[in-house]
Amino acid sequence: MARINDNFLKLKAGYLFPEIGRRVKAFTEANPEAAARLIRCGIGDVTEPLPEACRKAMHDAVDEQGDSKTFRGYGPEQGYDFLRDAIADNTYADLPISADEIFISDGSKCDSGNILDIFDPGNTIAITDPVYPVYVDTNVMIGNTGEADENGAYEGLVYLPCTAENDFVPAIPEEKVDIIYLCYPNNPTGATATREQLTAWVNYAKENNSIILYDAAYSAFIQEDDVPRSIFEIDGARECAIEFQSFSKNGGFTGTRCAYTVIPKDLVGYAEDGSTHPLHGLWSRRHSTKFNGASYPVQRGAAAVFSEEGKAQVAALIEGYMGNATLLREACQKIGLPVFGGVNAPYVWVGCPEGITSWDMFDRMLEQANVVITPGSGFGAAGEGYFRISAFNSRENVEEVCRRIEENLG
Ligand SMILES: *Cc1c(COP(=O)(O)O)cnc(C)c1O
Repeated sequence: MARINDNFLKLKAGYLFPEIGRRVKAFTEANPEAAARLIRCGIGDVTEPLPEACRKAMHDAVDEQGDSKTFRGYGPEQGYDFLRDAIADNTYADLPISADEIFISDGSKCDSGNILDIFDPGNTIAITDPVYPVYVDTNVMIGNTGEADENGAYEGLVYLPCTAENDFVPAIPEEKVDIIYLCYPNNPTGATATREQLTAWVNYAKENNSIILYDAAYSAFIQEDDVPRSIFEIDGARECAIEFQSFSKNGGFTGTRCAYTVIPKDLVGYAEDGSTHPLHGLWSRRHSTKFNGASYPVQRGAAAVFSEEGKAQVAALIEGYMGNATLLREACQKIGLPVFGGVNAPYVWVGCPEGITSWDMFDRMLEQANVVITPGSGFGAAGEGYFRISAFNSRENVEEVCRRIEENLG
């Protein structure tokens, strides 16, 4: 009898995006003329083409694979040196992160889930609320939680509410937690954490021998000078943090797939007998055993993000998306809604009108403006009363969305 992993039975049947799909389908079937007008600002996926420098590098790499003199088979599991060096020299130019602390992969979503392989299920896990659902579901799958209650909150997880009152950065908990997920700039709230706030978290983690799992997927969208782009800008973070970075949002690699995880060599975890063990070695072992390296042409494409042309093309992409975010912020402000995020992140987090729930607002935007947004409550209980608009869209679509918000919802 092949037993299944019963933890999967605890998962709520992917509620958010299926429910959005169901409501959009019902509305467009009943209103075919509105269907043609529909603009999707829901899912956080890029829309603009891959930078030319990346495409060129990938074409060249494919040609190399077509010649026996330059052909490459299996590459190093941790990634090619040309990419690890480029990341160390660029993303971490002013920080003490070396190339051999960088692990290349095919995505941050996988890395942030797979990292749990090297940790004990007995750890107490803290997540923010609202949150990127991957952190929660991967902990459920591996057995780190109990059952979900009627609000969808899992027994055994420590939820850290992020609200307008705390500027969407969680307060340091009273209790001891072993692993903390932080994501800044944040998906879904678009908020950033200050140096002081991150320093408080690093100090907490060091005092409690906890680990911070820091998701910096949106670091390239930071516009303001004093906002930390990496947890490793904070003193002491090398002793308590792992960082996830991705080419998905800056380079538009959501469909091309390349990301990286940084594990400093000083970072240790504890065995049952209290002995300390470097997490770098554990992850290296895990990565080499269960992963065979990201595709060579894709790694060449990712490295081109750091070339002169690549940097200029990525900067233009980000400028476009952040210009969209500014327009969306202004449109929501004009109709009198409280607006957060969208300054250093491609997400605008908007308060619903008084007394309107996130899902009511979703329906209103769909029916009155034919615009699909994401209801805040789908990211956690503390997201109730908010909605997220993604700035990942063409300028033309965003201008139209803004017109409709002002004309139909004002
Ligand atoms: C988009 C996104 C990522 C990137 O995931 P990939 O698997 O690298 O595409 C990581 N974290 C968050 C919070 C994201 O929104």
